[in-house]
Amino acid sequence: MSNETINPEDYSQLESQVLETIDRLRPELIEVSRTIHANPETAYKEYQASALLASKLEENGYQVQRKAADIDTAFVAYAGDKPGPTIAILAEYDALPVIGHACGHNLMATAALGAGLALGGIVGKLPGRVAVFGTPAEEGGGGKVVMVQRGAFKGVDAAMIFHPSTTNMVHGGSLASTRVNIIFHGRASHGAAAPHKGINALDGIIQTYNAANAMRQQLRDDARVMGVITNGGQAANIIPDYASAQFSIRAADRQYADEVLERFRKCAEGAALATGATLEFNVIEPSRYDNVVTNSVMGKVFTEKLAQLGLEVATGDREGTGSTDMGNVSQALPSIHPYLAIAPVGVSAHTIEFREAAGSDVGQEAMLNAAKAMALTTLDLLVKPGLLDQAKQEFADLTAKGVVKGM
Ligand SMILES: [Zn+2]
Ligand SMILES: [Zn+2]
Repeated sequence: MSNETINPEDYSQLESQVLETIDRLRPELIEVSRTIHANPETAYKEYQASALLASKLEENGYQVQRKAADIDTAFVAYAGDKPGPTIAILAEYDALPVIGHACGHNLMATAALGAGLALGGIVGKLPGRVAVFGTPAEEGGGGKVVMVQRGAFKGVDAAMIFHPSTTNMVHGGSLASTRVNIIFHGRASHGAAAPHKGINALDGIIQTYNAANAMRQQLRDDARVMGVITNGGQAANIIPDYASAQFSIRAADRQYADEVLERFRKCAEGAALATGATLEFNVIEPSRYDNVVTNSVMGKVFTEKLAQLGLEVATGDREGTGSTDMGNVSQALPSIHPYLAIAPVGVSAHTIEFREAAGSDVGQEAMLNAAKAMALTTLDLLVKPGLLDQAKQEFADLTAKGVVKGM
């Protein structure tokens, strides 16, 4: 059915129905966004946010599976029962510890809900299915990494999500990353009376840190090595028998990110050799976020929709970028992860200023625009002949070249 040409009048009717629904739902969506913003829940504990989204979708005709992929705060929701492709719109809703919704995931949650509700109203006239996926724990917990691994995206043809930012940008990209916990075990002793009997675990951490600092000079510009000491000992007069740190190792692609990870492992092993402390090097598997590969066919459609909504879209590269578990989705199926501005250029995510922006009127406007652009992009992928096939062909070509992994 998706290869039949749709009558232009029918198309413009569907399009205006989508836009009208989101305009009509405006007060309700803003309330949902502000409710999530005011009740920040951290990774894998987003019980209220996921329940709120799932119930709103269910009330509006979606078939909802809660605890999807065996994750308490994940869900998958489907609407539509005609043969054809499945397009997924993704929601994030986790907050950061202490600082709250300083990444604006309340807006991502509500934009996906708005797009889902708008499409739910017309899905009976469309081929295929619309899906809204609730994906928890983006801030380090890797909800999407686990959902991809557990097969939640099987049968999904394309996926999209929006992220708040300081510019409107469709081809943002992200870094492949891995988090590592390192622990050194030493031997406690009195720091003054018997220092020669101790093995200083903290020295293991400090030497790893310094070795990583030296290594950084010999890395590619896109590589990032950062870390914090999570346990540096108990008292100044006790030689620490235990010390720990967490590091995040990143680069523009998985291969180089893993190369840097192995070099970082050598830094820690060298520190163990130098200090005599025993090293535990623990890679946190769900934290292995792949780099986002934007599907250019879908990206072009989304860009057109933003222009249609009167938004200017920046071209070129983003100035600095983080990492997201959407990378793993984009490596498994055609995907986009566009950004919409909610704060002035120069305001960084994960700050109080960005949190305020995520609750502001400007933030809510961006959320509503994102809902509209995602709904319209999904509509096109379902009804415009050959469009999804082009997106899938590009993905197949990138898989053959090893740029993405494939499902
Ligand atoms: Zn974040
Ligand atoms: Zn984020």
